[in-house]
Amino acid sequence: MAGASLANALGSRGIPTLLIERLDRERHGARGDLLHPPTLRILDSWGVLDALRADGAVALRELVVSARDRGIVARYPTPVRDQTPAGRTIAVPHERIEAVLSACAERRPSVTVERAVVTGLLREGGRVVGVRVREGGNARELRARVVIGCDGTRSSVRRELGIAEEEHEYATDFLYLEAEGEVAPPAAVHWHLDREGIVCVFARPRGESRAFLTVRRGMRTSFGPDPALRDHVVGRFPDLARLRIAKARARLYRVVRLLAERFWVPGCALAGDAAHTTNPAGATGMSLAITGAARLAELLVPALDRDDAAVDEALAAYEAERRPAAVRALEAAHAQAMRIYESDLFRDADAFARAVDPAAAWTAGGAGWGEDPAALAAPTPTT
Ligand SMILES: Cc1cc2nc3c(=O)[nH]c(=O)nc-3n(C[C@H](O)[C@H](O)[C@H](O)COP(=O)(O)OP(=O)(O)OC[C@H]3O[C@@H](n4cnc5c(N)ncnc54)[C@H](O)[C@@H]3O)c2cc1C
Repeated sequence: MAGASLANALGSRGIPTLLIERLDRERHGARGDLLHPPTLRILDSWGVLDALRADGAVALRELVVSARDRGIVARYPTPVRDQTPAGRTIAVPHERIEAVLSACAERRPSVTVERAVVTGLLREGGRVVGVRVREGGNARELRARVVIGCDGTRSSVRRELGIAEEEHEYATDFLYLEAEGEVAPPAAVHWHLDREGIVCVFARPRGESRAFLTVRRGMRTSFGPDPALRDHVVGRFPDLARLRIAKARARLYRVVRLLAERFWVPGCALAGDAAHTTNPAGATGMSLAITGAARLAELLVPALDRDDAAVDEALAAYEAERRPAAVRALEAAHAQAMRIYESDLFRDADAFARAVDPAAAWTAGGAGWGEDPAALAAPTPTT
């Protein structure tokens, strides 16, 4: 997400950019599926939003909270920024967002996408000056003016640079499912609550749904052969009987919050989850990656015509702006996670509904539903 965003941001300005990705296939997509208006505007400016819409993006219209013993408890309209296609949150399978973003980048004349594994960094005189890659049995060295590590939470670039990180583990894991079939009302995010916890279901394109179950550490996560998992879900929530759930399309996620101590060293920066991994409670990880990449490109491009000191100044400015923004976004998502997933709030459907009301509590701390993490990046005025 961060790498392909950066390739679009730099490529749209004609900057020669090499995007190196080790996977040559779409991965299991049990990650972020929701993109919010502020980020959609950026994707629109890169021509990616039209491509996502052509790929079947679903515009979400409602957030719905239901309790097993009461039915629907609350319905909230999704916040709408404006009447343009970028004005309303969309749901797209994560692997399709990655594929579409990458395909759009690859169409830019100055961008090349290579399938290879980055195995290390090249350094000269205290600067990062390129990477070592392995492709099949061949090892190569590639020199670059700037290297951006967009290699996710377990970033090997961050490790090789010796940048420390703060990491927080949560007690609640998520069992993610991809299911065929829709729930009513459609085009909505649904939280279903019972005495065991939460099942969240939301719309995906082509009549599919994404669902996740919150799973406290130590609770049951393995189910026997099909239809055991489906029976478990439908046994808890008969309303979900129309979903076709198969164990092969389920995956357990251990979520973490992680913040790198710094976001740059001379010649090299970190972007996306490599720099900041957030709890999915805010549905803002992709937005942080995309807005961060857009901002990094804005700062970096003018410096590329100048000397290395100017490049490093741009990287320092990126950190000065985006690290505090990430801290606030991570804290807001963490607070929301503690409220809605790490507590017993699911036992009180009305209180839970108030906590996910997109017009109230959720956005109170910023960087929640539909908020713009980039707005948090406004530099603090100095006196
Ligand atoms: C369960 C869950 C739900 C989420 N829900 C949402 C949501 O609704 N909305 C939202 O905005 N965000 C959400 N997120 C967060 C979002 O998915 C991530 O923040 C975002 O995908 C991070 O993108 P990234 O590019 O930084 O990292 P990654 O997606 O991890 O990408 C890193 C890439 O680097 C490649 N790579 C790694 N090492 C190497 C190497 N040595 N050589 C070459 N390539 C390498 C990997 O193959 C991978 O493609 C969710 C996350 C999770 C876990």
